[in-house]
Amino acid sequence: MTQLTSTLPRRKRIALIAHDDRKQDLLEWARFNIGRLSRHEILATGTTGALLKRELGLPVQVFLSGPLGGDQQIGAKIAQSEVDVLIFFWDPLESHPHDPDVRALLRLAVLQNIPVAMNRSSADFIFSSALMEDAYERQLYDFAGRLERRRAVDALRASGEE
Ligand code: PGA
Repeated sequence: MTQLTSTLPRRKRIALIAHDDRKQDLLEWARFNIGRLSRHEILATGTTGALLKRELGLPVQVFLSGPLGGDQQIGAKIAQSEVDVLIFFWDPLESHPHDPDVRALLRLAVLQNIPVAMNRSSADFIFSSALMEDAYERQLYDFAGRLERRRAVDALRASGEE
């Protein structure tokens, strides 16, 4: 069986997103890690990105605000292998009108097997990894292989039924 992989580059494209109640937390975390962050490319949803730019002077590629489609835009980037790390401080105490977008974004991050942090300690663990400063071969989900195996099982079942 062939193993599908894709390289996360040394200089990573990091998506930063925070819900309103978690923005201060993300900002503090980013301030603490500004030296490391500046060695990578930063992408962010609208309000989070504006905050990072204004408060920390970081260069940030800013997308739409989350509730207006920013999470979906970042999700599309993940699906196209254009985001290497996702740091998303979502709010565990509130529901939001764009919760389905958030769920879709997180699903794509898992599917694409990129590192994801949803709170500060996970972000610290990811950022203290030597792999942040190196290229990394991530394994990709073998969708075609899964389809083939499913077809083979269906064919076996069908032949047994006849
Ligand atoms: P925001 O979006 O950065 O525009 O606030 C984040 C979100 O709510 O998903």
